[in-house]
Amino acid sequence: MNCLKRWLTPKSCAICNKKPKDPERYVDDAGREVLVCRKCVGYAERRAMRKR
Ligand SMILES: [Zn+2]
Repeated sequence: MNCLKRWLTPKSCAICNKKPKDPERYVDDAGREVLVCRKCVGYAERRAMRKR
């Protein structure tokens, strides 16, 4: 249950694992929604993550 909740409300940046201040939402390879902070958006784009 806890895991599921964490999936639904991701709290940290998927790239640097820090708390994103102004996050963008992306979908990772596994189809899960993740947050990516402003600093890591470029990295997410390079990894061809899809934007939500
Ligand atoms: Zn980040």
